[in-house]
Amino acid sequence: MKYGFDREDFKISYSRINAYLFCPYKYKLIYIDNQYVPLNADITFGQIIHKTLEKYHSRGGKNMPQLSECYDESWENKGFASPQQNFEYYRRGTAMLENYFKSFSVSNVKILYTEKSFDANIGKYRFIGIIDRIDEYPDGTKEIMDYKTHIKIWDSQRVDKDLQLTLYAYACKNIFGFTPDKISVYFLSDNIKIYTKRSNKEIEDGVNLALETAGKITGDDFEPDTSKCANCDFKLKCKNSSYTENV
Ligand code: SF4
Repeated sequence: MKYGFDREDFKISYSRINAYLFCPYKYKLIYIDNQYVPLNADITFGQIIHKTLEKYHSRGGKNMPQLSECYDESWENKGFASPQQNFEYYRRGTAMLENYFKSFSVSNVKILYTEKSFDANIGKYRFIGIIDRIDEYPDGTKEIMDYKTHIKIWDSQRVDKDLQLTLYAYACKNIFGFTPDKISVYFLSDNIKIYTKRSNKEIEDGVNLALETAGKITGDDFEPDTSKCANCDFKLKCKNSSYTENV
């Protein structure tokens, strides 16, 4: 059975490629069968923090009360397991944003864009995405940044290999017309940035992986990878799941 990939609106993004590389069947569940990834506290919290920072910077925010106001406006109660968990995440976010504000208020960067969306091509495919932040330093150098809100900080090897950053470096060069001088992941929970770079060869490899993945998707290859089930969002509802709960 074909899934209608001749439609003009077929597009790829880092999230789609990532879902496919995790398990092809997971891609099918989300993007073809339109199944929602079950909400949880981490997903909601990540969305709230991204929304807060976008609001704050797009309004030209200057102080902590304005940042707190954007936080309260962005807060949503969905996805938390209990009122207690809701409260704990709210407090964590408050501390996170206070540290963010302290660092940002003494930095000398100019923010060019927040939540900058793009829609272009990789080969014959439409390629879409959103870059969390693009900054410019006084000497004209530019930095692209991805925010992370989870607690665990990645080591630099993982940041160096991250496909999302590679594809965003491609987007900058080919869509926005500049090569990013700095690429960073900002771990907001610890207020730590880890910097990385991408060579032309690494960008080419990332683009090839994206093209190869898009080719498999349009070729209707959705073979389940059951080695990942224990860590999958769909482990309790997927018909191919090999996950069994220990009782
Ligand atoms: S539960 Fe297993 S087979 Fe199903 S989508 Fe997730 S990883 Fe793939």
